[in-house]
Amino acid sequence: MSNTSFLWHNGRIKPWADASVHVSTHALHYGSSVFEGERVYATPQGPAYFRLAEHTRRLFESAAIYEIEIGYSEDEINAACMELIRANAMRSAYVRPIVFRGAGGLGVLPKGGSPVEVAIMALDWGAYLGDAVEKGADVCVSSWHRPAPNTLPSWAKAGGNYLSSQLIGLEARRGGYDEGIALGHNGLLSEGAGENLFLVKRGKLLTPPSSAGILAGITRDSVLTLAADLGIAVEERDLPREALYTADEVFMTGTAAEITPVRSVDRKVVGPGTPGPITRQLQQAFFGLFDGRTEDRWGWLSLINAV
Ligand code: PMP
Repeated sequence: MSNTSFLWHNGRIKPWADASVHVSTHALHYGSSVFEGERVYATPQGPAYFRLAEHTRRLFESAAIYEIEIGYSEDEINAACMELIRANAMRSAYVRPIVFRGAGGLGVLPKGGSPVEVAIMALDWGAYLGDAVEKGADVCVSSWHRPAPNTLPSWAKAGGNYLSSQLIGLEARRGGYDEGIALGHNGLLSEGAGENLFLVKRGKLLTPPSSAGILAGITRDSVLTLAADLGIAVEERDLPREALYTADEVFMTGTAAEITPVRSVDRKVVGPGTPGPITRQLQQAFFGLFDGRTEDRWGWLSLINAV
């Protein structure tokens, strides 16, 4: 990962080093930020955002949950995302819009509120879990569970939620694993520290429901759509931990992780220990969107130069 020359901050493009915040920034103290993670792919037609409108929509929904007033329209944020890739002359990127309560007093709810800041960064970022996207990741089930739905809303992609992800990820790393998977408040499967979870059992694709304390992932939704298109049976349902140990295939999805196969869970090998046929088929359909092998019949790609 390396910094780029420019970012977008509170309405304008600036040099990367010129965007700083004060130490009294509310979000630093209380986790009051909402953000997105998006990807720009180098397609044969040029750089294109993948599902930009859906990411921006989720950013606004996350902000609405925490009553954070963004101060720009969705169209303005979409346009800023486009402008940033052009300013940095990037062919591909990982893009991180963030909205947060800024410096305005140290109370949980400061009098008069805190000013809201908006920034968008574009990074040069390859595969999130390294070569696991090819070989498969070694994961563990974390001893940390996801917060119950009536504690912190998992549909909001909020900075504070990532304290849970950090505990899950730290424990996994300490144990020598690539990633950790969390159970939900009810003891059933939820999601990875930064990915949604899929299993394949007897040819059927299974994934925990959106009420399982998960982020309603945009890659998850894309995989469900591609699977339906490929005629793969799909079931969104509650799954116990042991479903991981008896699955034929397991994989994780996310904007950063894309579609990453899982080759072992808690050191127990999944299937034959290599990415399975349905995982491969979905990877091909997904990555095919970006090299032209899969027709974008859903209007998921937005070309940057066309705007
Ligand atoms: N769950 C969590 C906790 C995540 O951080 C992410 C990554 N944004 C996901 C799931 C996957 O979501 P998406 O496919 O929208 O990136």
